[in-house]
Amino acid sequence: GVSDGRNEAHLRVVLLGDPGVGKSSLVAIFRREQDREAAEQQLAEVFDCTLMVDGKETTLLVMDTDERNMKKAIESSDSPMRLGNAYIIVYSVTDRASFESASELRIQLRRTRQAENIPIILVGNKTDLVRSREVSVEEGRACAVVFDCKFIETSAVLQHNVQELFEGMVRQIRLRREGA
Ligand code: GDP
Ligand code: MG
Repeated sequence: GVSDGRNEAHLRVVLLGDPGVGKSSLVAIFRREQDREAAEQQLAEVFDCTLMVDGKETTLLVMDTDERNMKKAIESSDSPMRLGNAYIIVYSVTDRASFESASELRIQLRRTRQAENIPIILVGNKTDLVRSREVSVEEGRACAVVFDCKFIETSAVLQHNVQELFEGMVRQIRLRREGA
């Protein structure tokens, strides 16, 4: 139904990654409305993103993090590292340091959430900046294999693969829920 998932905790997706890699730009393409209460707590900005995937509508609660709210949340029990039921880890293909940070975030997640089998998608964003690419698609893919997560390259500016990214997230969440 239309309200499918609105109140279901397992639809909370957290975006992680270095400043400037394009997290807010990616979520801006699908966000519908902002959760004021969460924004006021400033732990993360929370958006509703509703997608029709395989003939079924699902609303994700997407939490967009940044440096400020990550620092603020790091000591608290409601850190984005603990809150998410699924994660999108973003780096920029034009910024090798952000690629290395993505690996660190994956390791941190594994440490924080050891026993859980959490859906994670590694995202190489800014593929439109062809001439300033520093991380190849092969490197991204290999990293995802090592870290046992899905991988996709996107361009928020061209809106390339962004739909596919969020659809992939919905499918992964559904698979876990169904215990497949
Ligand atoms: P955040 O700090 O991770 O939330 O990154 P933002 O979404 O604020 O984006 C940082 C900057 O990168 C902004 O100037 C965006 O316009 C730009 N940006 C984001 N995604 C892309 C992309 O796919 N391609 C290009 N060329 N620029 C992008
Ligand atoms: Mg941002």
